[in-house]
Amino acid sequence: MASRDPQQLIPEMWNLFGQFRDEMIKAGEDFIVTCTYRSQQEQSVLYEQGRTKPGPIVTWTRNSKHTERKAFDIAVIKNGKITWAVPDYKKAVEIGIKVGLECGGSWGKSKDWPHFQYKEVKNDKDNISINNSNSSNVVGNGITA
Ligand SMILES: [Zn+2]
Repeated sequence: MASRDPQQLIPEMWNLFGQFRDEMIKAGEDFIVTCTYRSQQEQSVLYEQGRTKPGPIVTWTRNSKHTERKAFDIAVIKNGKITWAVPDYKKAVEIGIKVGLECGGSWGKSKDWPHFQYKEVKNDKDNISINNSNSSNVVGNGITA
C-alpha cells in the first residue's frame, strides 16, 4: 500500500523531512504530505498508465525513489485549499534545497514540483574511475593495488 506517513521513510530521509517541515512552518508555508512510500508494484502500475493502460501518463520512471523510501510528495495549501500553481511551490523548493534535499522542482527537464527526494552523495572516486575507463579499457591486466 502506498503511504503518506513520513515515518515510512528511511531514517535519514525522515530526519530531512523533519527539518523541511520545521522550516516550512517557520516560513508560514502550509502543506500536506501526499505520498512517501510506494511499492514497486504500485510504481509499475503507475508507469503502465498512459502506455499499455488507459489514462494520462503520470510518471516517467519505473525506478522511483518512493519505492526506496527516499522521497516524499507534498501539496501546498494556500488559503485553506490545495494549490497546484507552480509559484506556490517555489518557497518549498527553496527550503528543500536549504535542508539538503534534492527537489523535483530544480530538475532540468521534467520538473516535478511537489517531489522531494534524498540526495545521493556522488562519490568522486566513482567519477574518476568512470573517466579513466574512457581513456583505458584495460581493467583485467593483472595489476592490483
Ligand atoms: Zn514523488
